[in-house]
Order: sequence, then C-alpha cells, then structure tokens
Amino acid sequence: MPSQTSYYIADPKYTFLFGPTPNDDLTCAICTQSPLTLPWSREPSRDSDPSLLPCGHVFGHRCLQIWLKTNDTCPACRFRLRYDLCKHPIRPRRLTREGLLLVPPTVPDGGAVGDQCGRCQARTDQIVIFELCAPLAERYYELRTTHERTGSEADRTKMVYAKGQLDKVMQALVPPGERQW
Ligand SMILES: [Zn+2]
Ligand SMILES: [Zn+2]
Ligand SMILES: [Zn+2]
Repeated sequence: MPSQTSYYIADPKYTFLFGPTPNDDLTCAICTQSPLTLPWSREPSRDSDPSLLPCGHVFGHRCLQIWLKTNDTCPACRFRLRYDLCKHPIRPRRLTREGLLLVPPTVPDGGAVGDQCGRCQARTDQIVIFELCAPLAERYYELRTTHERTGSEADRTKMVYAKGQLDKVMQALVPPGERQW
C-alpha cells in the first residue's frame, strides 16, 4: 500500500498556483516511477498526469485508473470513493493548469462530497424544480395565451408579473454550476 510516499495536496489550486514549483519532484506513489507534472490541458493525455481524489491524495492518472478497476477507496487513506445515495463511483479529477481553478475544494480543505453524483443530482434537481415551478409556469402560459388573444396592456402586465415570479423561483432553485465532487 503506497501510503508512505503518497502526495497529499489538500489545496491544489494554491499549491500549484503559488507553491514553490511543487510539481518538479512529485512521483506517482502507486508505481513509484512516473514523475507527476502538471500539464497545461488534458490533451494529449499522459499516464503521468496527476489525478486528485477528494481526500487530497494525488496519483498518476493511469495507475489510479487501474487501481480503481478493482477498488473503490483511495490507495493511501482508504477514503471511500462511492456516493452514499446513488452508489456511483466518485471519479478522480485530472489536474491541469487550465482546469486548476475549476477543481472543487478537497474534503480536508473544506470541500464536500455530495450524496449523489452530478448526473443523479441533476435528475433529482429537475424533479424538484418541476414540482415547484409547474403551477407558476401554468399560470404564466395561461396569461400569455390571454394576452395573445386580447392584446391588452393590462393582460400584458399580468403576464410579465407571472413570468417574473417564475424566473425568481427558477433562479433560486437552479444550481449555479459545479461546486461539489
Ligand atoms: Zn504510477
Ligand atoms: Zn486519500
Ligand atoms: Zn449517481
């Protein structure tokens, strides 16, 4: 078990942006051979691209993929790489310079692992959003049809108001983007 030489980089953003060239002497702890250097982008991908787990441990991309075929834990600390609710695997993040600022904070750095993967969460969110917004949307479509028929200014005001209410709820509910693992 490669715990002795595993790289623990809880805050890759700061480490790689401001650290004293920390990527110069990193080596993959699984094979103890591949030097881990931070590429600019994922293309062309290399076996040695550093891959980050939510626990803050970093390994070579290819070695970690092989490990994860038969394991669902971090090779160093045994952090469980499975979502509690949907049981889908938590995927490692390939670290690149251009993607550095998009990497979510690791758990030891205050980040969080969601109950379910992004895809399952999006599905749940859509159901919730639909249930909460459907009555408002129905009202808006009604008023829009009325306004299209009458063309009156009063009906237009009502329609715009209903649309504003729908937008407000949608903005509060729709996730602003990627924030979690
Ligand atoms: Zn390796
Ligand atoms: Zn770990
Ligand atoms: Zn899932």
